[in-house]
Amino acid sequence: MKVETLSRKRLRWLAALLALIVLAGASWLGHSHALARSFQELSLRGQNTLNLAESTIQGQLERFERLPELLADQRAIRSLLLAPRDPDLIMAANTYLRDVATLLGASDAYVMYRDGVTLAASNFDQPLSFVGGNFAFRPYFSDAMSGGRGRFYALGTTSNKRGYYFGAAIDVAGQRLGVMVIKIDVDDLERAWASEDLRIIVTDPEDIIFLSNRPDWLFHAFGALTPDRLARSQQTRRYANATLGEIDFQTRSDRAGFQLLSGHGRDAVASEYLVVQSWMPQADWTVQVLLPTRAARLQAAVFVALALLAAGSLALSGLILWQRRRQLALRLQMEKAAKDDLERRVIARTAELRDANAALQGEVAERRATEAQLRKTQTELVQAGKLAALGQMSAALSHEFNQPLGAARNYAENAQLLLAQDRRDEADEALARIVSMIDRLSRISHHLRNFARKPNQQLRNVVLADAVHEAQELLGWRLRKAGVMLDVDLGAPGLQVVAGPVRLQQVLVNLLSNAIDAVEGHDDRQLELRACADAGRVRVTLRDHGPGVPEALQPRIFDPFFSTKEVGKGLGLGLSISYNILRDFGGTLSVRNHPQGGAEFTLDLQAVAPQAEAAE
Ligand code: ADP
Repeated sequence: MKVETLSRKRLRWLAALLALIVLAGASWLGHSHALARSFQELSLRGQNTLNLAESTIQGQLERFERLPELLADQRAIRSLLLAPRDPDLIMAANTYLRDVATLLGASDAYVMYRDGVTLAASNFDQPLSFVGGNFAFRPYFSDAMSGGRGRFYALGTTSNKRGYYFGAAIDVAGQRLGVMVIKIDVDDLERAWASEDLRIIVTDPEDIIFLSNRPDWLFHAFGALTPDRLARSQQTRRYANATLGEIDFQTRSDRAGFQLLSGHGRDAVASEYLVVQSWMPQADWTVQVLLPTRAARLQAAVFVALALLAAGSLALSGLILWQRRRQLALRLQMEKAAKDDLERRVIARTAELRDANAALQGEVAERRATEAQLRKTQTELVQAGKLAALGQMSAALSHEFNQPLGAARNYAENAQLLLAQDRRDEADEALARIVSMIDRLSRISHHLRNFARKPNQQLRNVVLADAVHEAQELLGWRLRKAGVMLDVDLGAPGLQVVAGPVRLQQVLVNLLSNAIDAVEGHDDRQLELRACADAGRVRVTLRDHGPGVPEALQPRIFDPFFSTKEVGKGLGLGLSISYNILRDFGGTLSVRNHPQGGAEFTLDLQAVAPQAEAAE
């Protein structure tokens, strides 16, 4: 893990370095390109200036090109050369030349004899007259003498002014007697080139500057003035007595082929010029336009800086965009992870729930089985309880049956006697009593059969008064035997409850039996059975005037086999069974002690709705 982070870090550094190298390379290329373009523009501008300068020079020279030959053919000149010492001829030539020079706008016009001595000149009347001067050393003279024409640029040895000399041989009668010379002023040329930023220079074959729109470089040469260069200039006395200087500049070509001229060291860039030049063959001059490169370099640098800035902002935007995308991707990834996790948890939870559900279903089934078992047991218990009650009742019941049976027997014997005595009316009366007693016995036996029967588990609508009446009938003998008064008031007649008729009757028998037990032997042996309907419920209360149920025992009396009665008298099942029967009816059974003494049991039962009753 750590190694991976390390190598990743190193990779990042490497990428950054590579990007830096690429950036540097691109900047360098961009700069070269921009510089080449700037130089191109500069060079174009220089070329225009150069063309202009060149054509100006060209025009000036061409104006005077043919004039010396023309003048050489003039009679005044030719005559003079035939008689070079004739003062009249000299004077005539002088005047002629002065007029011509003035007319043509030439600086000077003069005639040299074949030995180089000036015979006549346009400036004959000037303080620095050429007349008498020997200029045989000048190439324009020697060239004209040998080849018919000569051209030369020089600083005048007499006038000390820069001039261009046009020489033409004067041939008279087949003989070369001298040279006609016209000198023109070059100062005017320079004046036309006035410019602040660029330099226009004209150099001679020795690279010495003799024309310049700025005077500081005049008579200076680029590079060292070696002795042979100096000797060649000395020979022709081109620069007369002027001192020549050196300019410590170097020419070089840049990558794009532009020629650059610059000083050394720190000044190299500040003093750098782009050179545009052209050679003029007829004069053997080189016209050069020097344009400062500083602005062009600045332009290129600004271009690169702007490009870098643009690239930087582009990269920054890219970076921001990339980072945003990365963050988004990260968020999506996190969300996906969270979703996956949630899904996993949901699946796990679902599986758990499914298991729990299966377990629950198992439990429910188990509980159902237990409940069914319980119900069965309970039913059996109820039955057992009833049978037990029947067992208890059997002794008393035999008495109950014996008494009417004995009475019926007596009445039957009486009836026999009365019939024998033909006392029919009395005999009928005795027989009616027998029938009534038999009815009573069959009713009791009917109730007992009902009571002993296994109850139907279904619930139905039961008329409360019927159930009470049957219970009363079943226990009539006990009530009578114990001298207990049962006061029944069921309120509205025909009150119905949701119950099982046998089971409800069993509950009432249980409660009444307990109440009779409670009041037996007491002074106040009154029982009160009441019923009232309210809000869909029917409340039945049975109050006795016995000792009541001690508070501490109240929660326990509904437990099975709880009894305070002596062995043989109570099983402790009556209330427990009754409680469960009431619960099966959707009702409750509760006990409290009446404020005026005695216990009060309350049955809370579901009332039958009036329409249900109508449907019955
Ligand atoms: P058993 O009557 O066989 O004892 P029960 O379940 O019917 O069983 O009654 C449980 C106990 O509740 C009785 O033993 C008695 O102590 C008490 N009990 C029931 N009814 C009354 C009553 N009306 N007054 C006082 N105590 C009662």
